[in-house]
Amino acid sequence: MTLEGTNTYLYGSDPCVVIDPGDDAPDHLEAIRAAAAARGGIGLVLLTHSHRDHTAGAEELDAEVVLPAGGDIHLGLRTIATPGHAEDHVCFLTETGVCFSGDLVLGLGSTIVPPGGNSLAAYMDSLALLQAEPIDLIAPGHGPWITDPEARLAEYVEHREMRERRLLAALAEGERSRAALLASVWDDVPIELLPMAAMAMEAHLEKLEAEGRLPGELDP
Ligand SMILES: [Zn+2]
Repeated sequence: MTLEGTNTYLYGSDPCVVIDPGDDAPDHLEAIRAAAAARGGIGLVLLTHSHRDHTAGAEELDAEVVLPAGGDIHLGLRTIATPGHAEDHVCFLTETGVCFSGDLVLGLGSTIVPPGGNSLAAYMDSLALLQAEPIDLIAPGHGPWITDPEARLAEYVEHREMRERRLLAALAEGERSRAALLASVWDDVPIELLPMAAMAMEAHLEKLEAEGRLPGELDP
């Protein structure tokens, strides 16, 4: 989801790092080149994950492009593996407590965790990893900066836990129809977002099944 476009960040100087170049529109790339030139050029392009809205312009910047593994350090940025939104998703932490969060946490709304590979369990673990880090500011891949990281991370955790509680309650009452579960647990979602809510529900069901908490088969 691109919301109002992808945020591109430049970090450091002589040379700087470009994080998530975003799209490949010529004026956008020109703006990155100009800002980077003022910082002594581009030493490296770092990606938070392989989704095209974050990566499309990467190869146009005449610098090495890296999607690092957890634990890697590049020009002062420490990589934390944070799968969930995407399997290859990572966040970058500066020594001064800034986190470039990609799509793990967004400046607005909530992020998509598509089902597959028990992605939601991975996503919850990723949020917990960030909660354990000393972070003062989150610079997300979409939307404005997050100046209250602790509160926002807790909100993200609570939001998913709330859905899980409600889903478990509906299942405990004997509901087995996917459509009915969706309508009762995601009852606050506008109709145009229901396809995304259905994906979110599948991710929840997958997590419950992996944890042995899904009471029997659901109707298709
Ligand atoms: Zn993405």
